Amino acid sequence: MSRRDAILAEMGLAPIWRLREKEVSKQQEVSKEKAWIELKKAVPACTACGLHKTRKQTVLGVGDEQADWLLVGEAPGAEEDRLGEPFVGQAGRLLDNMLAAIGLKRGENVYIANVIKCRPPGNRNPEPEEIARCARHLVRQIELIEPKLIVAMGRIAAQTLLNTDATIASLRGRLHQYAGVPLIVTYHPAYLLRNLPDKSKAWADLVFAKKTMAAF
Ligand code: SF4
Repeated sequence: MSRRDAILAEMGLAPIWRLREKEVSKQQEVSKEKAWIELKKAVPACTACGLHKTRKQTVLGVGDEQADWLLVGEAPGAEEDRLGEPFVGQAGRLLDNMLAAIGLKRGENVYIANVIKCRPPGNRNPEPEEIARCARHLVRQIELIEPKLIVAMGRIAAQTLLNTDATIASLRGRLHQYAGVPLIVTYHPAYLLRNLPDKSKAWADLVFAKKTMAAF
């Protein structure tokens, strides 16, 4: 029995206290479930920026909604737009391999999302206004997931979450924070496919992330 429980038992309060704790956590769980349902309705209905005109479907994210790990990329590509899931195709396979290398698996204590929920035509970079309009969806996801660690993959994710213009090179290798959540910056898997020598740097980032998580 913990010291607090022993004191409460002594005061004859333990059962009431436990009951209240359980009630509060049950209420929080139910309100989170409702908030997820709202978000899953709001994003597919969103027309806040011009990208809604060319999308096949929105891509909210995938994985464990109570994950400790949150990985954030840039925006859906053609395959993601078609299938409604982030990081499918070649970049997705590389991401899965990177996760496996540090003992993680998509969907198991890991949630994967993008800054932008609709595909920019021709895979162009999202415009600042599109990022600004879409940010509220990602902000809500982070509030609901309450991850222990965020890994920002690529320039758009890093610059958006850290509200900076700094380069990936200058942001890597340090622990940042987003709204009190520790955040680590690494390269986007699609970039790594084109720049193989930087894979070793991404590996170092993931090892850093794994060590950081282990320290919690
Ligand atoms: Fe809405 Fe984001 Fe899609 Fe723009 S990109 S329409 S803000 S969900």
